Amino acid sequence: MTDARVPILMYHSVATEPNEATRALSVSPEAFAEQMAVIADGGLTPVTTAALAACWRTGRSLPPRPVLVTFDDGYEGVHRHALPVLAKHGFPATLFVSTGWLRGPYDTGGGLDTMLDWDQVRELAEAGVEIGGHSHSHPQLDQLDDRRLRSELILCKEIVSDQLGRAPASFAYPYGYSSRRVREAVRETGYAQALAVGNGLARRAQGPYALRRVTVRRSTGTAEFERLVDGRAIGRTFARDRALTKGYAVVRRARQVRRLVTRAGN
Ligand SMILES: [Zn+2]
Repeated sequence: MTDARVPILMYHSVATEPNEATRALSVSPEAFAEQMAVIADGGLTPVTTAALAACWRTGRSLPPRPVLVTFDDGYEGVHRHALPVLAKHGFPATLFVSTGWLRGPYDTGGGLDTMLDWDQVRELAEAGVEIGGHSHSHPQLDQLDDRRLRSELILCKEIVSDQLGRAPASFAYPYGYSSRRVREAVRETGYAQALAVGNGLARRAQGPYALRRVTVRRSTGTAEFERLVDGRAIGRTFARDRALTKGYAVVRRARQVRRLVTRAGN
């Protein structure tokens, strides 16, 4: 099983009426329920991020047809809409929170839509959802100097630890992107594994700090979702992900160039 290919599904918001900022990467509550039914009917076994990584670290065998259900950022719909569906099926999942986006004492006001509060996060944790880190203020981590990079990782870890009484073991890179320096800092902060945004299924050979995920979107129909969790014929989704990643890289490069030009001009 060490060469298993595991679909790690990346969700963001689950909402009936998402706002413009989160719409494309949101799913409707009905679509989410339908997708969890596909997983149940297909005999797939959801596991947490920590459980998958532990199996791959120790060589322990995975359950049959493993799949991961993950949520990024910490939108309120994860509690309101996703939790009842997960509970109905008895499915574990992983939620990666940006601690400075959640409602409550650390709120920096950066959240893109209505976010979870800490009572809701605790309820999710008690219901079997692993709570992982997703930085504090959701920056592009590779663009930060070492001091700010470390503080984003440490603050997130300390706030989750304070609020839940337990340190987060898993991390997801904001924007799905990481550099070697970022991966190293994540490891040194104490996170045992981290997820990227991938264009493919996760494999042990990717290493514990660069496990790939596949994106579930509002436009993902049931047939496409079935192909996605089957790990076959996802060319269309992958091509689009690749295009997005490429587009994003171009934006980043343009920003870097602008910064260099500005700097040179100063
Ligand atoms: Zn995010």
